[in-house]
Amino acid sequence: MIEYQEIRNSVSKLCERFPNEYWRELEKSNGYPDDFIRVLNDEGFLSVLIPEEYGGVGLGIEAAGIILEEISRSGGHPGAFHAQMYTMGTVLRHGSEDQKARYLPKIASGELRLQAFGVTEPVAGTDTTSIRTFAENRGDHYIINGSKVWISRAEHSDLILLLARTTPAGEVKRKTEGLSVFLIDMREIVGNGLTIHPIETMMNHHTTELFFDNLKIPADCLVGEEGKGFRYILDGMNAERILISYECIGDCKFFIERAKTYASEREVFGRPIGKNQGVQFPIARSYAEMRAAELMVNEAARKFDAGEHCGEEANIAKLLASEASWKAGDTCLQTHGGYGFAKEFDIERKLRETRLYQVAPVSTNLILSYISEHVLGLPRSF
Ligand SMILES: Cc1cc2nc3c(=O)[nH]c(=O)nc-3n(C[C@H](O)[C@H](O)[C@H](O)COP(=O)(O)OP(=O)(O)OC[C@H]3O[C@@H](n4cnc5c(N)ncnc54)[C@H](O)[C@@H]3O)c2cc1C
Repeated sequence: MIEYQEIRNSVSKLCERFPNEYWRELEKSNGYPDDFIRVLNDEGFLSVLIPEEYGGVGLGIEAAGIILEEISRSGGHPGAFHAQMYTMGTVLRHGSEDQKARYLPKIASGELRLQAFGVTEPVAGTDTTSIRTFAENRGDHYIINGSKVWISRAEHSDLILLLARTTPAGEVKRKTEGLSVFLIDMREIVGNGLTIHPIETMMNHHTTELFFDNLKIPADCLVGEEGKGFRYILDGMNAERILISYECIGDCKFFIERAKTYASEREVFGRPIGKNQGVQFPIARSYAEMRAAELMVNEAARKFDAGEHCGEEANIAKLLASEASWKAGDTCLQTHGGYGFAKEFDIERKLRETRLYQVAPVSTNLILSYISEHVLGLPRSF
């Protein structure tokens, strides 16, 4: 516990060196937080989940989550770099000894960036097993053709963890079979079989479309066994959901703190607006919703770190935390009146940033579907 408080304090101090103006200016120039990431790496925060034997810090998901939460709480945007924490887990759990020894120490030191995770495709969307990107096994190499969409940070990453079909969907018993995961070094292949097109979005997220045109990759890029990739990706999804839930809790805390301060200071009709219960109550409700979500996030992290099944908790945590942060943001904006819309207050920016988490990495409806089918045992709907 003390260790975690120390992590909070250190991250919070680090964030003071990168105040809200830093993130605001980055967004204006569509810039990437290289300086922030360098410091985060130098202090070991980005490699917190990598075991010590591979040069990391060797802590659990709770520690990683606290780091992201503190960055969000301070007004920063971890969406620009959080993927490294959870994509690395797939390599750690399913990669060969050679892949782990070759890549993990360099990822831990910051020499290599593993920020790109390529799953979603234009026609497949949420239905991951319908992906069409195909990697053809030619013995000592694979040839990849297809496309991906919404692949964030691809222009700011050296490596990508890619999901592709290796057996056509028509030739497998279940659609979840015949999918494989590859860890690919992108440094030499951009413009050489791989094309990256940036997509402009409502927040500074550096997301892209990828096109693979007869891309040749060595056979040793395959992670684990060919055809088992869907399971490997699923394994990493709980980590991703828990970490993003922590970010949403950080966003809640940012919004509630800002709303509380403004409501106490802003005077209208000769008294602070926070004296009116019409202003107080939405803030108090947001606090209660944040605390409830936080309990579920902590429970999901505790189970994950104990090696227990945590699908239910990770999904509910993401559902509750992403809705709580959006509502807290809306309340914060309302509390600020017109000033909530001014960019220099950072509220509208944070509100745009936190909105994503009701859609990605998995949408609210798909979480409700998971709870209906896998937790409650209701009839399968698709
Ligand atoms: C900014 C951004 C960054 C992203 N980064 C990445 C990344 O780095 N890597 C990556 O692989 N992907 C990434 N994604 C993709 C993201 O995971 C998907 O957008 C998300 O999973 C939803 O898929 P979709 O957009 O295809 O929506 P669709 O699958 O087309 O769904 C559209 C809507 O319909 C609903 N819906 C669909 N089917 C059902 C159903 N059966 N029942 C009820 N509702 C349903 C969904 O809930 C959703 O609201 C990113 C997306 C965005 C916007």
